[in-house]
Amino acid sequence: MAESSIFTRILRGDIPAEILAETKNVFAIRDIAPQAPLHLLVIPKSEEYRNVVELAAGAPDILAEMIGLASSLAAEHGDGDFRLVFNTGAGAGQTVFHVHAHVLAGGLGEKSLG
Ligand code: 5GP
Repeated sequence: MAESSIFTRILRGDIPAEILAETKNVFAIRDIAPQAPLHLLVIPKSEEYRNVVELAAGAPDILAEMIGLASSLAAEHGDGDFRLVFNTGAGAGQTVFHVHAHVLAGGLGEKSLG
């Protein structure tokens, strides 16, 4: 059987990380290597879906729940504006194949994508 993803191990408490928030199907942590003043990861509790395309097809309700939690956290930790990034595939920089949203915020208005 495949090893559990790093995010599943964090959710179980096997790897230390503060769970900032959770809803029925989704939880959030800080990214260990922040790329913006606020850089959170919003993650489904299930690792069934490898990327956002699979999630949108299989469980669009969980995708909506992720976006709702991202929005709440951006308001709680900043002014409410945020950038949502789903790296999809190794060629796009995805390294953890348990779907997750990067929530980036804080002074991004002047910065272009990439
Ligand atoms: P990806 O590259 O797959 O889109 O994003 C994976 C993200 O997970 C990376 O931004 C990386 O910094 C983050 N990450 C990897 N391992 C850990 C960890 O053990 N703890 C936390 N908080 N973030 C991690």
